[in-house]
Amino acid sequence: MELTNTLTMKKEAFVPHEPGKVNMYTCGPTVYHFAHIGNFRSYLMEDVLEKFLRYQGYDVRRVMNITDVGHLSSDADTGEDKMLKGAKREHKSVMEIAQFYTNAFFKDCEKLNIRKPDTVVPATSRIPDFIEMVEKLLEKGYAYQAGGNVYFDTGKLDKYYVFGNQNSEDLAVGVRESVDADENKRNKTDFVLWFTKSKFDGQELKWESPWGLGYPGWHIECSAISVKELGGYLDIHCGGIDNAFPHHTNEIAQSEAYLGHPWCKYWFHVLHLNDARGKMSKSKGDFLDVALLEKKGYNPLAYRLFCLQSHYRKPLTFSFESLDNAAQAYQKLVGRVAALAKEGEPDLEGARPFQEKFAQALGNDLNTSLALTVLYDLLKSGVSDATKRWLVASFDQVLSLDLLEAAEKAAAQKGEAVSPEEAAEIEALLEKRAAARKAKDWPAADAIRDELAARHVVMKDTPTGVEWHIEK
Ligand code: AMP
Ligand code: ZN
Repeated sequence: MELTNTLTMKKEAFVPHEPGKVNMYTCGPTVYHFAHIGNFRSYLMEDVLEKFLRYQGYDVRRVMNITDVGHLSSDADTGEDKMLKGAKREHKSVMEIAQFYTNAFFKDCEKLNIRKPDTVVPATSRIPDFIEMVEKLLEKGYAYQAGGNVYFDTGKLDKYYVFGNQNSEDLAVGVRESVDADENKRNKTDFVLWFTKSKFDGQELKWESPWGLGYPGWHIECSAISVKELGGYLDIHCGGIDNAFPHHTNEIAQSEAYLGHPWCKYWFHVLHLNDARGKMSKSKGDFLDVALLEKKGYNPLAYRLFCLQSHYRKPLTFSFESLDNAAQAYQKLVGRVAALAKEGEPDLEGARPFQEKFAQALGNDLNTSLALTVLYDLLKSGVSDATKRWLVASFDQVLSLDLLEAAEKAAAQKGEAVSPEEAAEIEALLEKRAAARKAKDWPAADAIRDELAARHVVMKDTPTGVEWHIEK
């Protein structure tokens, strides 16, 4: 397959270090709050990549860290630790909120059909490994102590800015913040490997180290966990594009200095989900999470389809209108699959061209929208229903839209009786909602949507009006 590699900003043929095997590392969530649907855009597209590699027959090993210490409010080593901020907000300990939001993260992943990585490692469980890596970096002359902290010396590298797309605006932010923040740094771009002192000293979790009681910098966790779990040659490192600088740039600096050879070959970055206010982010407070989508009556898999409809290397703008469209598209898709006859054997010969087109689409830099087109083309085509069902099941190993399961459910519910009184009430609510939407009274429309969701009403806008059914 071909993937856009942020190192070169080019589509490159994917060739793993060891034939047939893929080592994949993903920067996990900072667990101080629920993950928002922007974060999940990244995890969703990474999930599709992982599943497509498995679909192609690769033996994939995927590792994810959980950031539960060291990620300060600014990515450039300044401000308060995000975890402590979350703990204060909720009057709980850092470990309590870490546990709570880690569980919440994986529950949301399940709802979005995102597979849990083979290995998940909380940063706080690997402190001795981080210390060992920092010691080696000091020994090799890539790190220095100043003002009680240990820093990585970026001046020792031939090349620090490794990514082809590092844009001067991003860099300027990082550089400016580090200059203002820390006069211990020899170079503007140096970063902290181990803190014993920082502008902020109220850290709750601290560990003994050769440099005194302290805690790790944010970047070291991913290098140390990845090298320990996946070895010195990493095939694919994933993350949202905001992680490219400084986080991934610093990961590369310290991993390659530690290992003494090139480390990760392909950098897979997902561009941001934006809303009307710009990049969706947790620090903005009132962000959209999976629970809110569900509260508004959306099936989380409609959000998955929404993400699959566009390319991961392009920014994606979120609006409820476009999510409504995806939700309708999802219902339609399920309806079409539900209409397929179950009898008969698949014609594997007839299936092959569709399989090839599907693999070609995803093999071309994970073109998920084209892969969906192949699915639509298949459903419209003249091949037998049994072949269609067989291919839907096959494609869904990667798309993970639960199409056959949802179709089963839809078919079972079709016969479910709704009393005439209940039907009339629902019709009345639908009319009220339509009127509220027309008047752009969004709070009223939302309240009615919530009520309909509570009654398990699933709606579908059609040219002739809203169609609905009960889905329990
Ligand atoms: P965090 O929990 O902040 O460390 O972020 C978790 C993941 O979500 C990282 O890979 C980020 O790069 C990614 N991410 C953050 N914001 C967005 C966004 N608006 N759209 C897509 N990915 C994002
Ligand atoms: Zn990371």
